[in-house]
This record gives sequence, structure tokens and C-alpha cells, in this order.
Amino acid sequence: MSTIWIALVAALGFAAGPWQRARIFHHAQPAGQSWRERCSHCEHTLVSKGRRGLTAILPPTGRCPHCHNRLGPRPFTVEIITATVFGLLAWHIGQPPC
Ligand SMILES: [Zn+2]
Repeated sequence: MSTIWIALVAALGFAAGPWQRARIFHHAQPAGQSWRERCSHCEHTLVSKGRRGLTAILPPTGRCPHCHNRLGPRPFTVEIITATVFGLLAWHIGQPPC
């Protein structure tokens, strides 16, 4: 098992955190309500509808890039959790697949 392999995959997970944060912001709505696209404070569009929304990212600070009010999970929690899960998956897989 390579420590470098695990560290690289964990870093990839950390880098995917802002993308994951946008998914959480977009989908964390009560049942029956439409997915969230805009900041609740300034109405700035953060995640677009359709395919463009799939590429949206939100800053790891957890704040709206327009009005700087807090959105969703605390800063860096999503990124650290994603990095941990990716690192654990790499540890479980063992060796790089190629
Ligand atoms: Zn805002």
C-alpha cells in the first residue's frame, strides 16, 4: 500500500470539495420544494439549472461569493470529509488500479 497513492486520492477529494459543496447547496431542500439555485440573502444565482449546474462550484469558505453571507456547511467541512472518504477508499482499494 502506497502512502503517496492515498495522499493523492485524498487531495483529489479535497479538490472536489467545492463541487460537492455546490451539490449540497443545490439539493438540500425539504421534500416537495424545487432545488435551490440562488443565495437566500442577495438572490445571486449560484447554481444554474440543467447541465451548467453540474459544473458549478462554491467556495470552501462556505459563503456566498457575491454578498459573503454564510451558505450551507461550515468552511472546509465538506472538503475535509470528501478528502477523508476518498483517502479511506484508496486505502481500502490498496494499490493504484494501473
Ligand atoms: Zn448572496
